[in-house]
Amino acid sequence: NEPVCECNTCYKGPDCSNFIPHCTANADCGDPLFLEPFWMQHSTSSALVVSGWNRMSYTYNDNTFFSQQLERLIHKLHAFVGNAITRNRYIVFGAGSTQVLSAAAYALSLQNTSSQSPTRVVASIPYYTLHKDQMEYFNSEKFKFEGDPYTWKNRSDGTADVIEFVTTPNNPDGRLSGAILDGPNVKTIYDRAYYWPHFTPIPAPADEDLMVFTLSKLTGHAGTRFGWAVIKDETVFNRMVTHMKMNSLGVSKDAQFRAFKLLKALLEEGTGIFDFAYRTMKRRWERLAATISSSNRLSLQKINPQYCSFYNEVREFSPAYAWLKCESEEDKDCYEVLKAANIIGRRGNVFGSEDYYVRLSLI
Ligand code: PMP
Repeated sequence: NEPVCECNTCYKGPDCSNFIPHCTANADCGDPLFLEPFWMQHSTSSALVVSGWNRMSYTYNDNTFFSQQLERLIHKLHAFVGNAITRNRYIVFGAGSTQVLSAAAYALSLQNTSSQSPTRVVASIPYYTLHKDQMEYFNSEKFKFEGDPYTWKNRSDGTADVIEFVTTPNNPDGRLSGAILDGPNVKTIYDRAYYWPHFTPIPAPADEDLMVFTLSKLTGHAGTRFGWAVIKDETVFNRMVTHMKMNSLGVSKDAQFRAFKLLKALLEEGTGIFDFAYRTMKRRWERLAATISSSNRLSLQKINPQYCSFYNEVREFSPAYAWLKCESEEDKDCYEVLKAANIIGRRGNVFGSEDYYVRLSLI
């Protein structure tokens, strides 16, 4: 039961309190291990035993790939947290939100009204790079990544089919942003991976046409590979289900079972996981902010406190990532500036930004 040290490259010892001098602090990856201590405290209620003969079939008894029990629990979860309206909505599962996001892009690009040109896919800078990388990698004739939506706003060719990815709260800068484009041919995919009370105040339940969530940033179980979409339109839902069938013939039943067990344990604890996770994120953010405030060479993103309907009070900002800026002209390559001090972040250009910026993971 040895805990994994929070920053396992810089601390060792049974309680992770021994600092290793001259170590490299790796703040690059977004692996949400900050939730490990919570699950250590709830190891019995979240444990699974699966016999060899259990869950062998491709499908459930109703002949579908998706567990209805899990679907009901997801409705309950959103109703409890108040972060999304899911009543009378369809829910699709996937192998992480990564698979769900690509299914959504495929499904929406099939609604393209002009069969001549591919659907334009856009995401505001700084964007979560997967939205660009997937589009480029799949290299479909149905869609093409075209950068920042501001480039296409108020353009005379604005009637083209567009898919806008909106990550809110945003990765990397934590902002609760909205869509830039609208119009009859614009479809929006809301990536709501971080729309949980540990990372952001929840001003109101989200009610968009297509919203994507993930277990990874809610419970921290990134390795389970489980995500879901909440969808208003039946045709889009059916197209996403078809995509899942073509892509992986459904979603691992073991992953669905694990997700069920974890969400059940989470709901049994009331606000427990959110209290723990918010405290942890806020503490990390405040320590970093206090450190950076003593420097005029570096700065952090600023976002004002906001009313949170989950906690029924105004809450401070507690983002998953710090979006650090090197303020000086000479520090054009902020990544290298930090690296010289043994701190590994992620370069601004990975998010479509300038290299004056670096993302540091706090999770
Ligand atoms: N969306 C955003 C904004 C993310 O930051 C991540 C993970 N870093 C994902 C989606 C993908 O997460 P997963 O596939 O684990 O659900």
